[in-house]
Amino acid sequence: MKILVIEDERRLSEVLIDILRQNMHEADAAYDGPSGEDSAMTGVYDAIILDIMLPGKNGVEVLRSIRKQGNATPVLLLTAKSEAEDKINGLDTGADDYLTKPFVSGELLARLRAITRRGSEFIGDELTSGNTSLNKNTHELRGVKGAVKLAAKEYLIMDILMQNSRQIVPKERFIEKIWGYDTDAEYNTIEVYVSFVRKKLAAIGSDLQVKAVRNTGYVLEVKTE
Ligand code: CA
Repeated sequence: MKILVIEDERRLSEVLIDILRQNMHEADAAYDGPSGEDSAMTGVYDAIILDIMLPGKNGVEVLRSIRKQGNATPVLLLTAKSEAEDKINGLDTGADDYLTKPFVSGELLARLRAITRRGSEFIGDELTSGNTSLNKNTHELRGVKGAVKLAAKEYLIMDILMQNSRQIVPKERFIEKIWGYDTDAEYNTIEVYVSFVRKKLAAIGSDLQVKAVRNTGYVLEVKTE
């Protein structure tokens, strides 16, 4: 996995990055709120480790801002024991879990595994997310109200979205994967296919929604009620 560490205490940041790299993850560091937010919004990370007390913009503000912009990357908040109220704020704002300092590396890795597991999962030939599954052989999309067969391009769109569940997928990526680099396909072509996919998701009673992220791309999320 590729993980972003937003932590201003250099020593702790180095320890975190070391633990992650030793466990075969890629890790990048940001040392303040604004630059952490910019890195988070690139959408390339599988998870973010976010400290609460940060210069420039605190962790809860960073979290609120990225969620508002449609970024659903799993976030693990780092809190000090004295920050109980911030921790509650953070969870309300959309953090997936928190870890209290000081911590042991095993706990950090276990929590990261837990928060990143909540996306899509492959079981046999089926990719499952929320109450919905996509069969890679039959191209059937199944929800609580039944199943529909997806057309070739609809299937590719849904497959990319489910494999990158909760990540912003840039429109360029759909074009490259579906039409290839050498193509006349335009961004509004994708919008047309995405609208077909949305109709089919609604028809099968899926709890998944394809959200457009302005000027960027799309993100697949499980609706929460
Ligand atoms: Ca700090």
